[in-house]
Amino acid sequence: AYVSRNERRTATLALHDPLTGLYNVRYFYYRLSEAYANLGRTQAPLSLLIIDLDYFKKINDTYGHPAGDEVLKAIASAIARSRRANETAARVGGEEFVLLLPNCPLVQAVQVAERVRNTIKEERIVLSDGIELNVTASIGVATTAEFEPGGEKKLYSNADSALYRAKRNGRDITVANS
Ligand code: GH3
Ligand code: MG
Ligand code: MG
Repeated sequence: AYVSRNERRTATLALHDPLTGLYNVRYFYYRLSEAYANLGRTQAPLSLLIIDLDYFKKINDTYGHPAGDEVLKAIASAIARSRRANETAARVGGEEFVLLLPNCPLVQAVQVAERVRNTIKEERIVLSDGIELNVTASIGVATTAEFEPGGEKKLYSNADSALYRAKRNGRDITVANS
């Protein structure tokens, strides 16, 4: 029983980000290529959201790194709560998250992004020392409905350029790559 418990723990660690419990970047890429391969058969649109917290460095600078970690946990749990059954949520970088939306056209993906953005904005985060704060996020959205070899990388980079534009346009907004 001890060995199998250890093995289960190892398996969980291989898929999850230890800080937030969300899926990690490795598992996300696995799900992305799987979903993208499905697209080749179904032609159902696949959408991707990249969610990046705004001015997160300032939170660390103001309240300290452990407080920053508490914020990341709270936001990860807000994203997990707003996730629907067929969607994959993951933490792919320090303060960067993704939501993979199979069978979801761009218009609908933007609605999901706005829902997530508002959930994050409205999340009242209470730090362990009692301080309350709010954060905002910028979101880049991209969709693809056509399969080409390696095209999942293009989907990611399209969502990433949309995110870059969201940052450039003042943050706390959703930008779609179209
Ligand atoms: P922007 O609005 O342009 O996204 O600004 P930003 O400050 O959020 O972005 P930037 O990339 O400059 O800084 C990200 C910060 O996130 C810097 C880094 O110290 C912090 N960070 C990354 N990983 C972690 C983590 O695991 N815990 C904590 N507390 N901070 C982290
Ligand atoms: Mg950021
Ligand atoms: Mg970032």
